[in-house]
Amino acid sequence: MNNRFEALSCPTCNAAIGINEKKCPYCGRELLLVVDNSEIDQFEEAVKLLKGKKPFLCNRAQVDHIINLLEEAYETNPGAIIDYLRAYVEYDYFKRKFLNRTPDYMFYYNRAISGGLTQNNIKELENKIGVTISFGG
Ligand SMILES: [Zn+2]
Repeated sequence: MNNRFEALSCPTCNAAIGINEKKCPYCGRELLLVVDNSEIDQFEEAVKLLKGKKPFLCNRAQVDHIINLLEEAYETNPGAIIDYLRAYVEYDYFKRKFLNRTPDYMFYYNRAISGGLTQNNIKELENKIGVTISFGG
């Protein structure tokens, strides 16, 4: 679990509100909580941000945000496909810009492979982001 709920506030009056409130106790606004605490959401969010856009063309803040999402997704529920997408971002942004990182993209790539990554995983991911993933270009 994370502490994201603590930061909830009313969109109308900005009062701090509890997770179980259906209505803001201050201004009476009805609240619909969209809770983003699953690894699927974080992974899908990262995928959405990368759709049709190479990491190479993102700015650093965008890349950091995507990496944070993948980090959280992995912490919640580790998976080879998360590692593979992470490897791709690490490669396409950092490696291609000659920005050295530790661990580098190979760490995530190798962990994806040893984690049981399949060709179908890769195809599915490529279809989602609309980009052919390569580690050589
Ligand atoms: Zn309110």
